[in-house]
Amino acid sequence: MDLAYTAAEEEFRARLRDWLAGTLPTLPPPPPAGDWPARRAHDSAWQRRLYDAGYGNVHLDASPTLRLIFLEETEKAGAPYVGANFVGLLHAGPTIAAEGTPEQRERWLGPILRGEEIWCQGFSEPDAGSDLASLRTKAVRDGDAYVVTGQKIWTSHAEVADWCELLVRTDPGAPRHRGITWLAMRMDAPGVTVRPLRTLAGSTEFAEVFLDEVRVPAADRVGEENDGWRVTMVTLSFERGTAFAGEVVACRRTLTEVATRARANGCWDDPVLRRRLGRLHAEFTALWRLVQWNVSEAAATGGVPGTGGSVFKLRYSQARQELYDATAEVLGPGALDLSLPWTRERLSSLSYTIAAGTSQIQRNILAERVLGLPKGR
Ligand SMILES: Cc1cc2nc3c(=O)[nH]c(=O)nc-3n(C[C@H](O)[C@H](O)[C@H](O)COP(=O)(O)OP(=O)(O)OC[C@H]3O[C@@H](n4cnc5c(N)ncnc54)[C@H](O)[C@@H]3O)c2cc1C
Repeated sequence: MDLAYTAAEEEFRARLRDWLAGTLPTLPPPPPAGDWPARRAHDSAWQRRLYDAGYGNVHLDASPTLRLIFLEETEKAGAPYVGANFVGLLHAGPTIAAEGTPEQRERWLGPILRGEEIWCQGFSEPDAGSDLASLRTKAVRDGDAYVVTGQKIWTSHAEVADWCELLVRTDPGAPRHRGITWLAMRMDAPGVTVRPLRTLAGSTEFAEVFLDEVRVPAADRVGEENDGWRVTMVTLSFERGTAFAGEVVACRRTLTEVATRARANGCWDDPVLRRRLGRLHAEFTALWRLVQWNVSEAAATGGVPGTGGSVFKLRYSQARQELYDATAEVLGPGALDLSLPWTRERLSSLSYTIAAGTSQIQRNILAERVLGLPKGR
């Protein structure tokens, strides 16, 4: 493991910093959190700026270390979040890059990198979340297409997505993990119905997606038929690996702001709060080191992060909740004001121990794959 940066990596960092310093003041203000079409336009325009400046491919082509430097510097500079491009750039795109055919890479990666096409993730179903392999949405081969029928749920960004990375059951007779296939489905295909779900924070962040005999060309299958579980593991390892790296930088900034606010309003006199903030500081410093460790591992093993992603996800999601609980203490009664970013972040932080695999599931993964304990089931 090597955590030091090379001269070329430091040069990349300096160039990116200069570009961000010149570009960010020229950007329009972000749209309201609940206005999804405006958010899509905003996030896509930012991705296009990155692409035109030569940074568009950083999530796919660059080494894990350059990707990490990119996430760190953009977050430190206060650049727009990856937003609606999250699925496309951070896990569907990397999966297509790793598992797709040359034609598929040519068809899908360019529009993702230019911010032209938004992707969503159709994995979870009402009865298949943690136990994803029990998914029932079925796909029956009919000539050169699959006919897909079923229901997905918690599909983030479905309202504005053009494509969906979709898991379907193609062989109901095979053992559960062997009858699954990974498809790319157009969200405007006949038979796709999106019903938005409103979250605790008031935003229609995700949706239910109903599929009624949707025809998906067989050419849009990534990997072999019935080999979708293996492809899914590639997708999930990207999702749990470095996808949250920029957020750690943002949490460290928030922590500094919380301490500043506490000093100004007298909360700092409370030694219990000071100890709490000190411990969080140590936690986020350690989490950043863990991100670097994971990236270093990924660089050494061909770019796919391993179980280190689960270690990180487990602790990061908890630490994020503790951080925003601390903001509530410093804000006092003001913490009930939903228009405050810290309040909205506090509500959304509750989802972090569920999304991308719950904490219990991460513990199961670590128990089995790292500690070598016997499987529970
Ligand atoms: C903000 C957010 C965004 C999301 N975005 C997407 C998306 O874009 N696309 C998508 O497909 N999905 C998405 N999800 C869904 C997410 O992947 C699931 O919510 C998650 O996998 C848990 O599944 P579940 O909700 O069905 O809970 P369940 O699997 O029903 O779990 C319920 C409880 O039982 C526990 N549990 C279950 N099995 C075990 C076990 N074997 N051992 C110990 N405990 C267990 C769980 O930890 C949990 O506490 C999103 C979720 C959130 C919160």
